[in-house]
Amino acid sequence: MMNMPLTVGSMLERAEKFFPKKEVVSRTLSGVHRFTYEEIGKRTRRLSSALERIGVSQGDRVGTLAWNHHRHLEIYFAAPGMGAVLHTINLRLSQEHLVYVINHAEDKVILIDEDLLPLIEGIKDRLTSVEAFIIMSDNDELPETDLSPVHSYEELLSEADESYEFVKDIDENAPAGMCYTSATTGNPKGVVYSHRGIVLHGFAMALADTAALSESDRCMPVVPMFHANAWGLPFAATWLGTTQVLPGPQFTPKLLAEFIESEKVTVTAGVPTIWLGLLKELDEGNYDTSSVRAVLCGGSAAPSGMIKAYETKYKMPFLHAYGMTETSPLVTLSRLKSYQEDLPEQDKLDIRAKQGLLVPGLEMKVLGANGEVAWDGEEMGELLIRGPWIADEYYKDERTEEAFRDGWLHTGDVVTVDNEGVIKIVDRTKDLIKSGGEWISSVDLENALMAHEAVFEASVVAVAHPEWQERPVACVVLKDAYKDTVSAEDLQAFLKPQFAKWWLPDDIVFLDEIPKTSVGKFLKRSLRDKLKDHLLSGTK
Ligand code: AMP
Repeated sequence: MMNMPLTVGSMLERAEKFFPKKEVVSRTLSGVHRFTYEEIGKRTRRLSSALERIGVSQGDRVGTLAWNHHRHLEIYFAAPGMGAVLHTINLRLSQEHLVYVINHAEDKVILIDEDLLPLIEGIKDRLTSVEAFIIMSDNDELPETDLSPVHSYEELLSEADESYEFVKDIDENAPAGMCYTSATTGNPKGVVYSHRGIVLHGFAMALADTAALSESDRCMPVVPMFHANAWGLPFAATWLGTTQVLPGPQFTPKLLAEFIESEKVTVTAGVPTIWLGLLKELDEGNYDTSSVRAVLCGGSAAPSGMIKAYETKYKMPFLHAYGMTETSPLVTLSRLKSYQEDLPEQDKLDIRAKQGLLVPGLEMKVLGANGEVAWDGEEMGELLIRGPWIADEYYKDERTEEAFRDGWLHTGDVVTVDNEGVIKIVDRTKDLIKSGGEWISSVDLENALMAHEAVFEASVVAVAHPEWQERPVACVVLKDAYKDTVSAEDLQAFLKPQFAKWWLPDDIVFLDEIPKTSVGKFLKRSLRDKLKDHLLSGTK
């Protein structure tokens, strides 16, 4: 067979060639904009040529701080198309972590949405590699900023060359993108995506037994474009000529519901928190959602009650999927096998609420205490994955050794496998709390609490929350001398200046002692069991 490299640039070229009339619908702060793939193609080529003009060359990192909109989509292709590397920066990171990821990736330029400027202005003096900022704004005039040098995105484009040729001789294993993921403690860890990985992941998204993404879809990724490339949807959708509906900076449930109705969205994707919010809006409003053929849900476990509500009340088919930043991200997706269609409704729902079946192209292994676990839905073990769109290291990071061993990614997710091969996540070994799709480090909160003079021991655990899936609750043992003088409010006030607001524990519970394992580690499982209903309505 021919050895033809799989490149990100060729994905856009296909859309330009075969689907020039198909549309990208994009909402920004100034309203809804429509572009054809022909226009997106020209604007993207202009952007590549403009980036080249301001000094970006092959291999350089191009950072983005942006919502889901057409300009972000253009950078998705402009950077890899010219052989540079797209670095999508998570805009919810703390200042410390923003500084770390930008410096660690050595971003040469940063493209930033106008409304996100304060995020960068506050840290600009600590950035060591950035040579220019490009501001994405709908206004003709650049906003006031103390960043320097700054360019206007639209102005750069207007002066640039729309016939720019994407680099042809790119090694398919060369980096095309990167994204940082939270660590159990300390700085985020970088994951680099190759051209080849992104294209193969695109195939995986289009398979009939996975997300079945196709040209006829109208796809609205609510999952941010800085989160594992919005699950690879912008790449795959462009390649397939799918209409894209990009919801922009304001994705309130109401605006999402309206966009679904007005743009006749067929596929949408996001974390459970988004779908819980939308469900409430659908219950209260009167929207036509009949166009939707798949609500893709991942990032945290999808509650089966929610799946049922979407499907029975709103006839919106739900697809539960599992993956990680390290895995591009699609790993498993939950669909019934053809011979399971006749099972009782509850049994079918139980299967579909699991994380699902491994997608073609990947391999898995589940390691328990005595080697590979039995496929009995009972024995638990850690999920190990390998495949052509799975990272094999963290970027310039010694923590690589913890997760990538013997040719496998050790996911840190504890699962069971049933006799059909369907996995169910039952626990995680990584000490992180996932709140509304974003990670909070329990270790960092514990360390901060234990630095307080009154605190003898502290353990922070994930507790189920009706809106955010999980929230942190801190269990604290006070030193005897402080038992009557220090309150939960005092400790909250102590934590407040050290963390982003959304990291602060929802509650601080005082205990006489923290249960421990035989080797003296905190027995978090027992704390989680004890607190499992703590944040459900009315119990706190
Ligand atoms: P991230 O890299 O931020 O996308 O997070 C990946 C992690 O999120 C996984 O290792 C799991 O712990 C968790 N996760 C992702 N999808 C699911 C899911 N469908 N159900 C439960 N946990 C999930």
